[in-house]
Amino acid sequence: MDTTRKTQIVKHLAREAGFDFCGVAQAVYLEDEAPRLEAWLRRGYHGEMHYMEKWFDLRLDPRKLVPGARSVICLAMNYYPEPRPSHPEGLKISRYAYGEDYHKVLRKAMKTMVHEMKRQLGDFSFRVFTDSGPVMEKVWAARAGVGWMGKHSNLIIKKAGSFFFLGEIICDVELEYDAPAHDHCGTCTRCMEACPTEAIPRPYEVDGSKCISYFTIELKSHIPESMQNTWNDWIFGCDICQEVCPWNRFSTPHNRPEFEPQEKILNKTVREWFEITEELFEEQAARSPLKRAGLNKIRNNIRFLKKSLGSNASENFNFFNPPSSLNKRSKKE
Ligand code: SF4
Ligand code: SF4
Repeated sequence: MDTTRKTQIVKHLAREAGFDFCGVAQAVYLEDEAPRLEAWLRRGYHGEMHYMEKWFDLRLDPRKLVPGARSVICLAMNYYPEPRPSHPEGLKISRYAYGEDYHKVLRKAMKTMVHEMKRQLGDFSFRVFTDSGPVMEKVWAARAGVGWMGKHSNLIIKKAGSFFFLGEIICDVELEYDAPAHDHCGTCTRCMEACPTEAIPRPYEVDGSKCISYFTIELKSHIPESMQNTWNDWIFGCDICQEVCPWNRFSTPHNRPEFEPQEKILNKTVREWFEITEELFEEQAARSPLKRAGLNKIRNNIRFLKKSLGSNASENFNFFNPPSSLNKRSKKE
């Protein structure tokens, strides 16, 4: 079977598995990315995400992840939700976390795809990734023509927007390679201007250590006082730079039941966040990305926000000194 036919089959299977976009790039050393990644790390833009310093060589060369790799199959799945009423107290959670943990959903879809690829193309070596290993997935998606990396560093798909999860199948199958996507940011700088923490100091470069997503999800220590009053409502992640991007006027709601909003989590009031037991949180968030942050981290994020807003911010609930019954529960946690 020739590479053209194989590539057609791969792209057909990607659609069958539920992906909205699929492109293929040749598995090569990412020469241009090496100095960029080095400079980003040197500037300390990874903050406490020390795992970013590891596996430098692997990050730049997929053939070190899959010996003999020929192709990087890049996949994108829409997660843009239907509009929903805002939270009664204004607490905001990034759209990507509305439904089930995307790692599991995409991994399952890619495994299904690989299974069928093997049936139709014969056996091959592969690994699948979705924000889960040393893979520069946005760089690969751009090389595979799926979209371009915007000035906010997210992948933007022309006429579809940026609310997409990305996944990659690195394999030793030779396929037909797509042309890289063109950059359509032009003179726009909306995302840079809208970022409340000035985390986009230069176009196409995000200072991860200043990003609200980092503060509310990744950071293990306390959010620095200097960030007080810079943002008022995000308790998990941040969508501001994507919300202001003109390309997201093309976003359309997804149709995957797994990404349907988990209202029990999304609608919790401040009081409920402090009253819920660890056990109940574990149960309710079992399939949610919020589980990764954990209950204490979310509570600390709320405390930080409410400190910014002042003590009257929340419906007479004193979350700095919760009732003694809750204090006891916290100690146990
Ligand atoms: S996610 Fe929020 S904090 Fe991070 S770069 Fe975008 S606007 Fe700034
Ligand atoms: S807001 Fe403008 S500059 Fe930023 S990613 Fe979108 S198009 Fe590019």
